[in-house]
Amino acid sequence: MHTHGTRVLISGAGIAGPALAYFLAEHGFDVTIVEKAPAPRHGGYLLDVREIGCDVAERMGILPLLEKQRCDMRNVRVIDCNDQCIIGLDPRIVREKSGERIVSILRGELSKVVLDAAQKNVTYIFGDVISSIEDQKDKVHVTFSKSEPMDVDYVIGADGENSIVRTLAFGEKSKYEKHCGFYISAFTVPSAIVEEHTMLQYSLPGRRITAYGIPGGKTVVEFVFRERRMLDFAPQDTALQKDILRRAFTGGDEQCARFLQCLDEAKDFYLDAVTQIRMPKWHTGRVGLIGDAACLASPLSGQGVSLALGGAYVLASAMVKFPKNPAKAFEEYERIFHPIAKEIHSRTLLSAGFHIPDTRIGMAIRNRTLRLFALLPSWMFPRRLTSVRLQLPKSC
Ligand SMILES: Cc1cc2nc3c(=O)[nH]c(=O)nc-3n(C[C@H](O)[C@H](O)[C@H](O)COP(=O)(O)OP(=O)(O)OC[C@H]3O[C@@H](n4cnc5c(N)ncnc54)[C@H](O)[C@@H]3O)c2cc1C
Repeated sequence: MHTHGTRVLISGAGIAGPALAYFLAEHGFDVTIVEKAPAPRHGGYLLDVREIGCDVAERMGILPLLEKQRCDMRNVRVIDCNDQCIIGLDPRIVREKSGERIVSILRGELSKVVLDAAQKNVTYIFGDVISSIEDQKDKVHVTFSKSEPMDVDYVIGADGENSIVRTLAFGEKSKYEKHCGFYISAFTVPSAIVEEHTMLQYSLPGRRITAYGIPGGKTVVEFVFRERRMLDFAPQDTALQKDILRRAFTGGDEQCARFLQCLDEAKDFYLDAVTQIRMPKWHTGRVGLIGDAACLASPLSGQGVSLALGGAYVLASAMVKFPKNPAKAFEEYERIFHPIAKEIHSRTLLSAGFHIPDTRIGMAIRNRTLRLFALLPSWMFPRRLTSVRLQLPKSC
């Protein structure tokens, strides 16, 4: 390890931030992470770490730890209004056919593993936020809401969908936000509504409910519904959000009513519009963005972790190559990674339309296609449809 002492401030200790810190600290950068939350968050929804995410996790040496905590579904059942199974499959077999690597894990567990890996030579400030960023050409002057000001060579926003770094350096979120026409809600209930490792799914036109049986006798429940308007609610107002969800599914049928009952015991309730962040550039001067802050693809993409870990790795390798030249480092990062984000963004819109159709005919076409996919032998499986891959740069 060589210590050239390039100073980097990262905002956000979710997934992208600590991954970037890990690779930079390995190469002698002087890294600080500032995180709004007072402590790391645990639990949360279930997410799939796919190809690019697995490749980066492997290079961080954490893939075996993720494998250990994996919470894969072994049995998928799509049911109708009479509780009859209309599609039943083992996703592990489908995965084998597609050749795609996927590790399902709770978000909090993934974040903890990434954070634990990025401890050596990284300074953490929890419970604080950046309040101003002044790019002075040869350095960046940063002030915080509580901590002392700091001068650094790079500021990286890895602070998620509502990134403060993006707002301060690039302008309001609304300039870059695209509403995909859906809302998503996810939460955990402390009871086993479905068996462990089983995923149960029920749909109506424009509406989908999924329940995942996870270890510990708990269930993660996810609701998705079509809504073209941007609804107005405060992030903290969970009572209003639950009301919005109830209204979207009320009048559905008995299955909807059954899953809506879960709301009464919901933990970590989450509801938000399904949106994407689409930016022409992820850097300005010495300030850059990664992960959801740069290119949120939406929860429906199933690729947010690939974008977070992949972007962190590609940026780290560019910064290692050009530690004293932010313009070159950022250009190289964007040259490699912008096309990946673009591809994931457009695939997400297509796949959301297919998986959550707004007509009964659309539902019938989807169900037939899924049944056919499950039957295809591996040599006929359309691999390019299911996975996005990237040849990661060698160095880092
Ligand atoms: C319901 C749901 C299901 C999902 N399923 C999948 C899936 O199956 N597969 C997949 O790949 N992805 C999935 N995702 C998306 C995935 O969780 C994100 O893309 C991923 O977490 C992005 O990582 P990140 O580090 O960029 O941002 P985040 O994980 O959001 O981390 C950002 C961090 O920044 C902190 N922060 C926020 N504001 C500030 C501030 N002002 N100052 C300092 N810190 C701040 C936050 O507290 C947080 O710790 C899902 C998301 C949701 C909501």
